[in-house]
Amino acid sequence: MRPFEYTRAASPGEAGQMAAAPDARFIAGGTNLLDLMKLQIETPDALIDISRLDLAAIERTDDRGLRIGALVTNADLAADPDVRRHWPLLSRALLAGASGQLRNKATTGGNLLQRTRCGYFYEPSARCNKRMPGSGCDAMEGINRMNAILGGSSACIAVHPSDMAVAMRALDAEVETLSADGATRRIPLGDFYRLPGEDPSVETVLAPGELIVAVVLPPPHGGWQTYRKVRDRASYAFALVSVAAAVRLEDGLMRDVRLAFGGIGTMPWRDQRVELVLEGKAPSDKLFDEAARLLLQEARGHGHNDFKIPLTRRTLMAALRETTASFEEETSA
Ligand SMILES: Cc1cc2nc3c(=O)[nH]c(=O)nc-3n(C[C@H](O)[C@H](O)[C@H](O)COP(=O)(O)OP(=O)(O)OC[C@H]3O[C@@H](n4cnc5c(N)ncnc54)[C@H](O)[C@@H]3O)c2cc1C
Ligand code: SF4
Repeated sequence: MRPFEYTRAASPGEAGQMAAAPDARFIAGGTNLLDLMKLQIETPDALIDISRLDLAAIERTDDRGLRIGALVTNADLAADPDVRRHWPLLSRALLAGASGQLRNKATTGGNLLQRTRCGYFYEPSARCNKRMPGSGCDAMEGINRMNAILGGSSACIAVHPSDMAVAMRALDAEVETLSADGATRRIPLGDFYRLPGEDPSVETVLAPGELIVAVVLPPPHGGWQTYRKVRDRASYAFALVSVAAAVRLEDGLMRDVRLAFGGIGTMPWRDQRVELVLEGKAPSDKLFDEAARLLLQEARGHGHNDFKIPLTRRTLMAALRETTASFEEETSA
């Protein structure tokens, strides 16, 4: 490991000022950053420890939403009674990620900013535009089983690996930040991540030194919700495909349909055209199939990951059947 300076920040403002320096990084739970440092993929000169800042509260907002501090651990967020009751797909997504030990350390802010799991990104001898801009992409012609089928560019097809971010995308979360100059802003999660384009090393719209202080959820959706994750083993594995679904029923028709996807996109994926196809209609397999076709019409496999196209279709159909079967039970009760 290369030498670096370690400083514990006393306040969010101080953390932002310290991290504005080039090659400074915040460290929260450290479950991703430390692995990257051991492999010398991340080589910061300065580590700003934010883990003791007062950013670990989960609070109700005046409009019945939820404000989740950036340092709330994945374990605490999944177990929060309000989250389990009103935003259950978020709790399910968190519990589907990593392991109990990791969830006890991993934080809300760090989870959103975890780096991809593309094998070539973690292999210093491989060509990788995300790790070393302009070097090429060994995944294109290589082992790309875990890579993206949507949102890729000729420079990169890496998947964003977070389960929590997929749930938050479906729930219309906003990221609250504090900049190095003291300015604050709220960024809808839909505008937070960048597609890889020509420079996949830049993954979000955050500026250097900009600290995530919280994630804000709007009032509860109120419908049936699920998070379905397909993976190689039942725990401790990243998604091949995941679907976060929330649907309300009014007079037998689907309303306020929200669908977000993990494991298939270069960022947590949402395509509102797909939701609109379902909106205001009675649930049926024919309609679900039409929605899946629309979602996947621009999907592109790269060989090893071609299987994700039919797998996504089946996972979406299963998630929609699960949520709408719940309303059939409700209607017949
Ligand atoms: C074996 C293993 C299996 C895993 N499986 C899954 C899985 O199935 N699903 C899943 O979703 N995740 C999985 N993870 C990833 C895990 O969830 C992340 O490593 C974790 O959420 C990162 O949070 P952290 O607090 O440890 O971040 P850190 O490692 O501390 O930081 C990650 C990045 O975020 C930045 N950062 C952290 N906090 C802030 C902040 N408040 N503001 C600005 N920048 C910040 C850091 O500078 C760093 O760049 C797995 C990890 C491992 C090691
Ligand atoms: S897909 Fe992206 S992360 Fe993977 S090797 Fe190519 S450039 Fe690197």
